[in-house]
Amino acid sequence: MEKIKCPFCSEEIMAEAKKCRFCGEFLNKQEIANPAANDPKTHASKHPSYGSFTVLSLLLPIVGIVVGIVYLTKKDLLDRKLGEHSIAMSIVGMILGCILWSFVIGI
Ligand SMILES: [Zn+2]
Repeated sequence: MEKIKCPFCSEEIMAEAKKCRFCGEFLNKQEIANPAANDPKTHASKHPSYGSFTVLSLLLPIVGIVVGIVYLTKKDLLDRKLGEHSIAMSIVGMILGCILWSFVIGI
């Protein structure tokens, strides 16, 4: 009889088993063949919106920085202050975005 490892408790069980006799979990053959398929971290990069979200989270702060630079060149003091704030917030957003993404993708 062929034996496999239970993906939930790592005990040796029969390859034909539908339910683990050690931990009582129901076994799905696909999950055993590819345990990473259930990992949300691998899911994130396969999600159809993954690319657009990554682009958006990088593009928005860049837009903020560009707008900030434009405002920095203005003569009005309040406009320049707005520009400074915009750049500062964009940089903070970029750093936070990178931290969040590293959590989502698991880098
Ligand atoms: Zn088990």
